[in-house]
Amino acid sequence: MKTKIVYSEKCLGYGTWHVEGPQRVKTAHDVLQAKGYEFLEPKPATDDQILSAHDADYLFNVKKGLVEDSDTPAYKNIFEFASLSAGGALLASKINGFSITRPPGHHSGRNGNALGVYTRGFCYFNNIAIAVKESGKKTLILDIDGHHGNGTQEIFEGDEKEGIPKDEEAFNEWKKVISEDRILLGNKKDNFWEMGDTGPCGPCTEIHVDCRSDEERK
Ligand SMILES: [Zn+2]
Repeated sequence: MKTKIVYSEKCLGYGTWHVEGPQRVKTAHDVLQAKGYEFLEPKPATDDQILSAHDADYLFNVKKGLVEDSDTPAYKNIFEFASLSAGGALLASKINGFSITRPPGHHSGRNGNALGVYTRGFCYFNNIAIAVKESGKKTLILDIDGHHGNGTQEIFEGDEKEGIPKDEEAFNEWKKVISEDRILLGNKKDNFWEMGDTGPCGPCTEIHVDCRSDEERK
């Protein structure tokens, strides 16, 4: 049985001039259609579903078009496009399918811009985070992009208010083999940053490493 593809023609309806343009998913759609894949139309994510990953103020601002940065313009009706794309991820996670809708999501954090990055990089709602929150399942997020998935990290990382300190012991071991400035601290679920006395993976440790070249890191 072939994986079902979640897609909507509607997601081609904005941002024709932009590098993250309709042709990106249209091309993927056409290739998959020629190979005989079945397509399913998503429904928009509800406000409650979006609020599982984003703050109410940010949701309000996207609805009102009060979100604008150089990469991520406040297109007309962007809320409709963004909530439908989040709905695509929700549907794909329910059917073990694959969503090729747009806008993308992984640079969008709780309040939009994530971890001090100046742009949301074409992302409005964090589609994968909304789908994972809804599923409630322990999930491996494999994030493939030229950039770090800063929005996704921010949404899933621990809360400073919990006051769990950085795991210095693990950090000191890792920095013997990996340059310190390439170690990504991560969060309490996926890394040694805030694991507390007992991490989720038992007596072992893992790290996330920044593998970009020096040129890319500039
Ligand atoms: Zn990116």
